[in-house]
Amino acid sequence: MAFEDFKQRWPENIAGKFYVGAQCLDCDLCRHLAPEVFAHNDEGGYTYVKKQPETTDELARCREALSRCCVNTIYDDGDLFDWKKPAA
Ligand code: SF4
Repeated sequence: MAFEDFKQRWPENIAGKFYVGAQCLDCDLCRHLAPEVFAHNDEGGYTYVKKQPETTDELARCREALSRCCVNTIYDDGDLFDWKKPAA
């Protein structure tokens, strides 16, 4: 199941642990919590990970975003998969 989620990620996600999947409703919560990490695709109307968290504080806010995302479409298992495979 997790690999299926990974395949559905937005192509703009930067490789690494965290990524946003295709269920994003563009609610802005994660971008508000961790603007260093999450960015908005203005044309598509969704969020993607522009930078992986680098500090303890950024990591904590990413984890909070993951736990509070209303559609559970923030994931932290990206380090388990091959990012060279294109998003579906
Ligand atoms: S919290 Fe979830 S639904 Fe809201 S913008 Fe972020 S990824 Fe999208």
